[in-house]
Amino acid sequence: MDCLFCKIIEGSIPSNKVFENENIVAFHDIQPAAPIHVLIIPKVHIASMNEVSPENMPIIAEIHQVAQKLAVDLGIAESGFRLINNCGRDGEQTVHHIHFHLLGGAKLGALTGISNSHQ
Ligand code: AMP
Ligand code: ZN
Repeated sequence: MDCLFCKIIEGSIPSNKVFENENIVAFHDIQPAAPIHVLIIPKVHIASMNEVSPENMPIIAEIHQVAQKLAVDLGIAESGFRLINNCGRDGEQTVHHIHFHLLGGAKLGALTGISNSHQ
């Protein structure tokens, strides 16, 4: 499958991993938007939140468990963080393998709403 994150999972594209188990991989975002910016992804290819089925919903719960652990490991549990999923065109999802952004390490700006480029 021609999917960037599947290639990161199989190792044919390098990444700076911070966590891996049988279901999940987490690695540093290549273009960090905050001092800590990690992407948490399932090993199974799910295109977006729209494609999450009842059968693979447990993986979404496990991703939240991993986010909680990584926040502690990366030293941002106490100071706080955001866990963000962008879905589809209006969510500005650019990689179509579901992923959750874990952001922290500085006071984050207000959540942005409608962008100027919105068509
Ligand atoms: P999204 O806009 O929610 O689809 O997020 C995709 C994220 O993937 C962006 O924050 C990119 O910076 C990040 N990204 C793209 N290519 C890579 C890569 N090779 N390694 C790590 N992160 C990447
Ligand atoms: Zn994929």
